[in-house]
Amino acid sequence: MREDIMSAIQCIGILTSGGDSPGMNAAIRAVTRAALQHSMTVKGIYHGYKGLITNQVVNFQTRDVSNIIQRGGTILRTARCEEFRTPEGRKKAYECLQEHGINALVVIGGDGSLTGARIFAQEFNFPIVGLPGTIDNDLYGTDVTIGYDTALNTIMECVDKIRDTATSHERLFFIEVMGREAGFLALNGSIASGAEAAIIPEISSQRDQLSDMIEHSFNTSKTSSIVLVTEGEITGGGAAGVAERVKKEYPQFDVRVSILGHLQRGGSPSAQDRILATRMGVAAIDALLDDQRNVMIGIHNDTIVHVPFSKAIKNIKSINTDIMRALEIVSK
Ligand code: ADP
Repeated sequence: MREDIMSAIQCIGILTSGGDSPGMNAAIRAVTRAALQHSMTVKGIYHGYKGLITNQVVNFQTRDVSNIIQRGGTILRTARCEEFRTPEGRKKAYECLQEHGINALVVIGGDGSLTGARIFAQEFNFPIVGLPGTIDNDLYGTDVTIGYDTALNTIMECVDKIRDTATSHERLFFIEVMGREAGFLALNGSIASGAEAAIIPEISSQRDQLSDMIEHSFNTSKTSSIVLVTEGEITGGGAAGVAERVKKEYPQFDVRVSILGHLQRGGSPSAQDRILATRMGVAAIDALLDDQRNVMIGIHNDTIVHVPFSKAIKNIKSINTDIMRALEIVSK
């Protein structure tokens, strides 16, 4: 069976899509080299799905991916592509794949990119394997995503610096981190940086995290404090929204806001992200050779797993309550 499939997949395309994350280059390198080892032709597609619609496709040899494992961002560039959301746009993308003789695709990206991959794979019965490339760590079925560890380390370094000034001035700092609807960066970033609390989307509807924090911790013993807040409406408008509330409800505090923004996406990937991306990249080619279709490569208990797109996208990855408890205990 494997031999049949090996002959069926002679040429793979690889693209990065949506928000970039550190480690995407390590993944591109691993996918390319694994495919070349199996005598496949490799085509790099620039600017995500947009590059399929506008025909930005080049041949990749092993040297095209030399000296990139340590670089942040993605050498294939990335983009958001509205046209790919339409059947007409996806038809153009399919025609491009046919024109180049590409018979399988590896897509590296987040929730949106894998949603697009799933729709496309079903529409054209086209083999696609996804790799979870997002700093948010919000894909179900994998313990971690490519870029998450690096972003967490970046957050930790930034918060360490902000703490110096927060302590000197006895201020209450709200630091906004990325994550959209997922609080992994805020929660684990808080633990790693010794922050007093995290305000995360997962529990926003269950309790008032701000008043809990002020009444049970900050109000009693602390003169300066750092709280990490996940961006977005669910947490009450991110750090700025929470700070506005404090100014009104607890005017005794000297409040400051810091938004870490895009610097969280940048930088050289950590060792962990490089290793993760390399293992997942190799696994993507193995999966295609084993006739796996419409799956995301994940890692669970240090073992590679195959997660159907439907599960990875639709299911919510829950926050580990042990971690929340640990933060509550150590921040008192
Ligand atoms: P991420 O992959 O980081 O979550 P986005 O949510 O911006 O990033 O998605 C990246 C791209 O994936 C979009 O610009 C679009 O081209 C494609 N995509 C996302 N959702 C869909 C969808 N429902 N149908 C088709 N394509 C989609």
